[in-house]
Amino acid sequence: MPMRIPQIRKLVGGIGVFVALAIAVAVPVGTFAVGYAAASDVLTFKARLSASQVAQFIYTNQRLWQYQHVRLAGLLELPSRHGESVRERIVDPAGNVILQEAGILASPLQRVRVPIVVRGETVAWLEAEASLRPLAVSTGFMAAISSILGLIAWLTVRLLPLRVLDATLLTLARQSARFQAALDNMTQGLCLFDAQRRPVVHNRRFAEMFGTRKPETAASGELASRMLRDLGMGGTFAPGDANGLQSHDEAVHKLPDGRVIQESRRAIPGEGWVATYEDVSERRRSQDQLSHMARHDALTDLPNRVLFREHMERVLPRVRRGDHVAVLYLDLDGFKAVNDMHGHPAGDELLRRVAAILRENTRETDLVARLGGDEFAIIQVGAAQPSEQVALADRLLAAIRVPFEIVGQRVEIGVSIGIALADATSSSVDRLLRNADIALYRAKAGGRGKWCFFEPEMDEELQHRYRLDTDLRCALTEGQFEVYYQPLIEARTQLLAGFEALIRWHHPNRGMVLPAEFIPLSEENGLIRAIGGWVLATACADAVRWPEHIKLAVNLSPVQFANGNLVQEVTQALYRSGLAASRLELKITESVLLQDNNATLGILHQLHNLGVLISMDDFGTGYSSLSYLRRFPFDKIKIDQSFVRDLARENGSIEIVRAVVGLGRALGMSVLAERVETAEQLGLLQAEGCDELQGYLFSKPRPVRDVPAIIARHSVARDS
Ligand code: C2E
Ligand code: CA
Repeated sequence: MPMRIPQIRKLVGGIGVFVALAIAVAVPVGTFAVGYAAASDVLTFKARLSASQVAQFIYTNQRLWQYQHVRLAGLLELPSRHGESVRERIVDPAGNVILQEAGILASPLQRVRVPIVVRGETVAWLEAEASLRPLAVSTGFMAAISSILGLIAWLTVRLLPLRVLDATLLTLARQSARFQAALDNMTQGLCLFDAQRRPVVHNRRFAEMFGTRKPETAASGELASRMLRDLGMGGTFAPGDANGLQSHDEAVHKLPDGRVIQESRRAIPGEGWVATYEDVSERRRSQDQLSHMARHDALTDLPNRVLFREHMERVLPRVRRGDHVAVLYLDLDGFKAVNDMHGHPAGDELLRRVAAILRENTRETDLVARLGGDEFAIIQVGAAQPSEQVALADRLLAAIRVPFEIVGQRVEIGVSIGIALADATSSSVDRLLRNADIALYRAKAGGRGKWCFFEPEMDEELQHRYRLDTDLRCALTEGQFEVYYQPLIEARTQLLAGFEALIRWHHPNRGMVLPAEFIPLSEENGLIRAIGGWVLATACADAVRWPEHIKLAVNLSPVQFANGNLVQEVTQALYRSGLAASRLELKITESVLLQDNNATLGILHQLHNLGVLISMDDFGTGYSSLSYLRRFPFDKIKIDQSFVRDLARENGSIEIVRAVVGLGRALGMSVLAERVETAEQLGLLQAEGCDELQGYLFSKPRPVRDVPAIIARHSVARDS
């Protein structure tokens, strides 16, 4: 154990006192002792000298020597001689003084006794005395000086080191206070362990982390034990029992109370190690939450596209080991209508309800995801194929078909499902998803509310569509389109009334492609806007060169109504070509009005105001043809070709034609019949009072260069 500060103080004080005393006492004592010994030697020598002289005398004067005082006195040392303070006397063996020199000696005195031996016999004693006063005086003087020296030594030895110690201690205390403040203000818990794996220092945060009731009073050892127990490393903290504490540098521990503590350790060479502890529970929680949010849909809490893909990537490799993996793509039918009619909150609620249905009808091992909008997907692993997909799809169709009760409204929707089974060739994620998507497209095309398995032929069809789409994108700039013209014949006179413009695509490899094949596609990818504009401009430019009574009919796609510059486009086509607006007839289908909004009607009215004629194509095929006639004052209605085709049959077609002609007459609209192929049809339509006719009977659609010939042929009235 290192020395404590008071012990150091006591020791330093003791040493000071010892040194001071040694100097103050030893010097005079030594001086005195040495002086005394020297004086004692001198005195003894003198006494011996005197004794031998006296013995000499006695030897020669055997008798009565005792009384020869004068002679004896001459032999003795006298006090004042040579200034030395010595006094001698002779004493007989009985102790009686025989001769004594007079003289006063200053005390204290030093005395020696030497025998006076004559012929081997002690006849008397010689006693000598000397004063020790000079020695005492010098000793006293020495004592005074050494006391001063001792005091100085004491001061030096004791005070100086203690002052240095105090100063050092103060510095250390300040430093330690700074360190403690720094440690205690750390957001991490910190504990320092020595080489014997004993906790040495810890900070406040550490105490709070692993403390019990009064963390600040708990000792490091106690806390460290608790820490080890909390961290699941055993409850005790004994030297040499650190459970591999030094084996790793970073570790994350989950505490029994649910906290997550991150520990990081750094070795201090030869000293042990320092460990810091951070409570990362909150960070973990928000990280978990973030990663949940990144992988789940906020509305339904179903896995989103990201998690869906991750799961697919996880399970697909199992296919190679013989496991079954299937993907079901779901798309709600009629969801948009619910959103439009009942508002977004109702739409959201509906999606949540559908999500719940999907969850209820699937197994734990299935993954249900919302891919966005009203699209969902299910990954089925380990289910028998195809029976279990069929069963699931049927269950879902039935469950979703049941009307929903949402915000007090009865809402009906359906679902279409595309199913793709993973096999060795389609085991890439993208491939499988695409297959399911193709199957879904098929299910939708097949009339909605159905499921459909993917088949390789569908893929070919799609490939074909894809290629067509790619080619279509450059067809306009490559000049591959051409406008053909088909004559419209006045029924009564059989004179030429006008031409309908019909587009043709001269595909570089495939030859002529008819509009039925590429118009729907161009409506899907939006190219119809550019194509439609081009047809309009081209046809107007062609028609302006025809006789003035010849009209021009041009087809408009509903998509051209959807983005706002149709009126401007028509105006421009007329202006640039110089064609009179009254010669242009724009054909729309019922689906334009199906969009049924005021914007569409507004556009139609604007076009009408330009002086352009508006006709309704394919009349009679839609549900609400009649009601549309009330909404807009069409100039012409075109009876759908199916009625013309069936005219000769007894299935009511002729009655319908008759009714439409009557209707047109009543509403002031002219009536056109299309696809007139036979003379019989011509006769019947003439008899019913149709205004205009169109069909192969008169002419197929022809390139513009053939128009003059057609005009020439139909300009002379035929007599029927
Ligand atoms: P539609 O407006 O009903 O055009 C009449 C279609 O019937 C034309 O087909 C025409 O060739 C065909 N046809 C005419 N007479 C007869 C006949 O006696 N017998 C038979 N079997 N068919 C006859 P086409 O040119 O293939 O056009 C098909 C459809 O494509 C058009 O139907 C029209 O809806 C659309 N379409 C054509 N050109 C354009 C265009 O420039 N823009 C837009 N938006 N659609 C167009
Ligand atoms: Ca038609």
